[in-house]
Amino acid sequence: TGFAELGLHERLLKGIEACSMETPTEVQSEAIPQALAGHDLRVTARTGSGKTAAFALPLLQHLLLEPKPLAGTRALILSPTRELASQLQKQVQALAGFTFIQSEVVTGGEDFKVQAARIRKNPEILVGTPGRLLEQLEAGNLALADLAVLVIDEADRMLDLGFGEDVSRLAAACPEQRHTWLFSATPGDANMERLVRGVLREPRVLAL
Ligand code: AMP
Repeated sequence: TGFAELGLHERLLKGIEACSMETPTEVQSEAIPQALAGHDLRVTARTGSGKTAAFALPLLQHLLLEPKPLAGTRALILSPTRELASQLQKQVQALAGFTFIQSEVVTGGEDFKVQAARIRKNPEILVGTPGRLLEQLEAGNLALADLAVLVIDEADRMLDLGFGEDVSRLAAACPEQRHTWLFSATPGDANMERLVRGVLREPRVLAL
């Protein structure tokens, strides 16, 4: 089956084509319909399996179908490192190329005030590392009241790097009525179970 059968918006199908993606990978054909149906997800899939598009496409679809002009951050994508966050944002923005949806990177190592000014321009999607996002939140620069989707990517690495507490605090600052999708290369340990229990609601579990 192709991307069109997954029920994706016409503008996203154009972005998919522009990214030279023809057939959904396994994680994409499993996760996208579940995410579009409104379920929380816990996905175990290795890097290189196409997991970025597996969360980016339903995320973008959600924002296309429920636009809220000037509503602050609508989606957060948490990533363990600056480099990964910046790669993720590029891929998300490429898939969003035929929409008006904007995204920004929010990671450590960037000037705090310049970053705050970029956040104030109201990009719908922020892709960042937990520590700096939390600092921007605590400085009053993040508006999460209308957040619809929270993605936790590479959750196992995030925990290995000691970001579990930061991730939990960010999740707690998001509305309870939201979609949360957690991706990990490995099933993880007791810390992962604790994180999953704290942030996901009746998740569909996909182990690929
Ligand atoms: P990821 O696992 O998300 O890091 O993706 C790995 C690479 O596969 C990226 O360079 C994607 O652009 C590419 N990719 C993802 N999905 C597809 C697809 N359905 N068809 C072809 N390439 C893809």
